Amino acid sequence: MAANKIFMHVDGDAFFASCEQSTNMQWRGKPIAVGRERGIVTAISYEAKALGVKRPMSETELRRQFPQVALLASDYRKYELFSERMKNIVRRYVSDISEGSIDETFADVSAVTTWHEVRAFAEALQEELCTKLGLTVSIGVGPTMTIAKISSGFKKPRGLTIVTPEHLEVLHDVPLRNVPGIGGRTEEKLAGEGIVTIGNLLVLEQAEIARRFNKPLVELAYELRGTAVRALETREGTQSVSSIQAFLEPIMEFTPLLTEFSRNVERVCRKLRAQHARTNAVTIGYKAFPDVHTLITRTVKCPAPSNDAGTIMSLAETELRAIFRRSTKYRAVYVGTHGALAHETQEKLFTTKEDEAQKKRDTLNTVVDSLMFAQGGLPLERASSLRAQRHEEDGGGTPLLKIPHSHKVLDIPYLGSIT
Ligand SMILES: [Mg+2]
Repeated sequence: MAANKIFMHVDGDAFFASCEQSTNMQWRGKPIAVGRERGIVTAISYEAKALGVKRPMSETELRRQFPQVALLASDYRKYELFSERMKNIVRRYVSDISEGSIDETFADVSAVTTWHEVRAFAEALQEELCTKLGLTVSIGVGPTMTIAKISSGFKKPRGLTIVTPEHLEVLHDVPLRNVPGIGGRTEEKLAGEGIVTIGNLLVLEQAEIARRFNKPLVELAYELRGTAVRALETREGTQSVSSIQAFLEPIMEFTPLLTEFSRNVERVCRKLRAQHARTNAVTIGYKAFPDVHTLITRTVKCPAPSNDAGTIMSLAETELRAIFRRSTKYRAVYVGTHGALAHETQEKLFTTKEDEAQKKRDTLNTVVDSLMFAQGGLPLERASSLRAQRHEEDGGGTPLLKIPHSHKVLDIPYLGSIT
């Protein structure tokens, strides 16, 4: 148990809908919903919420009741990209973060700010996320992760709620059903004993809670009293990074399959670069019909530790050609690091020719990574993801950096040309 901790919970506001509004001017300030591909509203913008749109709601119901609300297909790749960028920005402020779900991040900010300064700290982070991503987040601050998470839900959108250890009584009226970790059955059981709010629970001595309830609830009570018992699951010690992509429609051709692999390699490499790590080998794999639950894999060794998508794809492509089978319906692709990661501890001195080439690739990757941030919310993918397509379309010209979904192409040559 740690005392005097300051935790922060950063939560994207109406995240999927906001990503759509951020990438498409047409939807800004408009009532929109996401989930067309499933025929169900799965996310709604604040403008649509204001009209009374609820989720889940069927497409038919939405069209009947709210014909003015646009229903868009989900674009998970875009949301994941926004999610990564959100987490990378938070990581610039504080290194101790845990991944959380797609639209949220926990951070232990005890080492980088104080209770006096945490408001300014959180506001600066909120401002940067808003400017760089084109969407808003709500932030909760508290002495434990549980309190931080409850706090971020107090005020939305773009809320900032700070609950200091001296003012924990502000939580006492919060119903237990709004507390993360309290499931429906626990809630029912507690309600049966007249325990409905946080205040009702905390009236009991900790020893009594321990006698009457199970361990998770005992821990939760500590958390609600301001004693941190839950720790961040940081990437410290994380020994793998992976990316899996399932397709709405099965893929049967090699070229689009290669493109999907390439995109996942990109994603894994971006994650590696964000944590200044390189991998010695990657596992590539796929799932195919009819046995869609089995992941078939191969491992590809890198001659030198790498976080460069071009390098890894050139190694993986041969393997992929070898495992590709005609008439197979591919359902998903997987890319993951294999074995321990190599973490960079200090600036490397480049001496050999290969080191020089690697330095050039690193420099270009840094440019690409920072360009992604500079694109005002537009997800950016390197051309290696489109290389396969282009190869067949135009006989393999110089691939370009491309912003998917917008048809804009940036005129920057593909990294693979540097050898
Ligand atoms: Mg959210």
